[in-house]
Amino acid sequence: MTPLIVGNWKMNMTISASASYVAELLPLLPAGADREIALAPSFTALQAVSSLLVGSPVRLAAQDLFWEDFGPYTGEVSPVMLQEIGVEYVLIGHSERRVHLWEDDPMIARKVRAALRAGIGPIVCVGEQQDARRAGRAASLVRAQVLAAYEDVPAEDVHRLAVAYEPIWAIGSGLPAAPEDAQEMHAAIRGALTGLFGAPGGEIRILYGGSVTPDNVDSLMARPGIDGVLAGGASLRAAEFARITSFLPGGK
Ligand code: PEP
Repeated sequence: MTPLIVGNWKMNMTISASASYVAELLPLLPAGADREIALAPSFTALQAVSSLLVGSPVRLAAQDLFWEDFGPYTGEVSPVMLQEIGVEYVLIGHSERRVHLWEDDPMIARKVRAALRAGIGPIVCVGEQQDARRAGRAASLVRAQVLAAYEDVPAEDVHRLAVAYEPIWAIGSGLPAAPEDAQEMHAAIRGALTGLFGAPGGEIRILYGGSVTPDNVDSLMARPGIDGVLAGGASLRAAEFARITSFLPGGK
């Protein structure tokens, strides 16, 4: 399985800042095809970043999409529009959207179907709040989020799916999950995916996200079952993100 490293810029960086970042990042990236790298800029910078990434190994990701292709949905962005500008992956159900924009599991499932219809690979974000973890409900909650997002996906699309395990208490807090705890949660997610899809569910990449930095990426990526990372804050600085993409293989 090729590891996938994604930088989620969230609501940061203007078009000009995005362009400077890409110019700084590209020469710093590791050579070789043993890992896949993607950037998720803001919607307004997607087109510019798309042009700047032509000929580079970096793929373009969006941070969200809407579940319809066209229509009276003021302010929303269509999967077809994203596909037209070269978007290959999309984050769906990020906890910041679940919390601030009330995205729920049925909406997330609709967005998954819309992404697949447009040929875009969904990266569904799942994760528990701290109180659920303390109550011993983290694994069951996250499994339920995965099942709700992916239960309707037809067999021919399974190879295009990914999951990002992002404990909410770890996002932006500087307190990442311990690698062994992340590994345990990834195993629970893997169980949900193979339960849904059989053997092909074993090939879906499961990324870890939540305060990933150049200092902890190697120990996370050394864990079996962690197939990549989704970095937020640390991806805003090109040199730091380049170091994250240069994680030491650790058996992968
Ligand atoms: C994220 O936004 O998906 C994320 C993991 O953020 P951070 O790396 O800043 O915790």
